[in-house]
Amino acid sequence: MRIFGGSGLRALAWMLAAHAVAVILTVGNARAQTAEPGRILIEYALPTDPKHQPILELLRQKQVLERVQTLLSPFRLPRPLTFRTAGCDGEVNAWFEGDAVTICYEYVEYVMESAASRRRPEWVSEHHAISGALMDVFLHEGAHALFAYLDIPLLGREEDAADQVAAYMLLSLGRQDTPQLVAGIVYIYLNEAGIRDFPSLRRKRLKIVDHKHYADVHSTPLQRMFNTLCLAYGASPELFGPAIQRGALPADRAEGCADEFGQVDRAFRRLLLPHVDLSVLQRVLARDTLSLGRP
Ligand SMILES: [Zn+2]
Repeated sequence: MRIFGGSGLRALAWMLAAHAVAVILTVGNARAQTAEPGRILIEYALPTDPKHQPILELLRQKQVLERVQTLLSPFRLPRPLTFRTAGCDGEVNAWFEGDAVTICYEYVEYVMESAASRRRPEWVSEHHAISGALMDVFLHEGAHALFAYLDIPLLGREEDAADQVAAYMLLSLGRQDTPQLVAGIVYIYLNEAGIRDFPSLRRKRLKIVDHKHYADVHSTPLQRMFNTLCLAYGASPELFGPAIQRGALPADRAEGCADEFGQVDRAFRRLLLPHVDLSVLQRVLARDTLSLGRP
């Protein structure tokens, strides 16, 4: 009786080989799972619509994705995360899915058209409307990616949390043009809501709004605008006080903004800062190249 003869021996050899491969794969996976900084990849995809070619060239020339890559490089990630600009067949959108953040050329086009509008108020420049809104969308989608990659638990709606993280990171960079970038974000939301400027907000208007607007996973554009303004004022009453005094934020909301900023600050320090490589962060903050392009 051949116990280990012929095919039996080969079967054992295969089992051992398979076990060895499994061990190697496990070790390999463990190595791949080690969280490391500098894992942001970037890709300027070719537009599907030729009219977006100038947008691609502008983004390349301003090194927009390279700046996002630098900005988020301090986060220790378990695997690479790609930031991509791409054509979306007419969809004005941006999203995080799989291991990639996609910003549509259509969305960049929408922001550029809003910024160029003759209705744009004098308190925001065209340049800052574009760079503020783009920074906001990259950081917002980046926040979704951080939540998923780092398994961050969330209380409250994820879209609001992503807005908060985006605003917090922008405000924490300590850039000299922070107020102008925030003005850019505020303007894009006001424009999306069809509001020309703050005085029109105070006129009581009866407006029929599609109920789906309120069922959306995102807060409404005006809520997102006020939330961003409140965090900015909470972070720096000196910088943003004048805008608040001019009526950009109702007094009832403004009085709690320091606490609102404190809540986000505490959550960021507790949940996200432990995933930041502080020596890389120091190098990043020392570089003054993080704005998405200069005027
Ligand atoms: Zn989102």
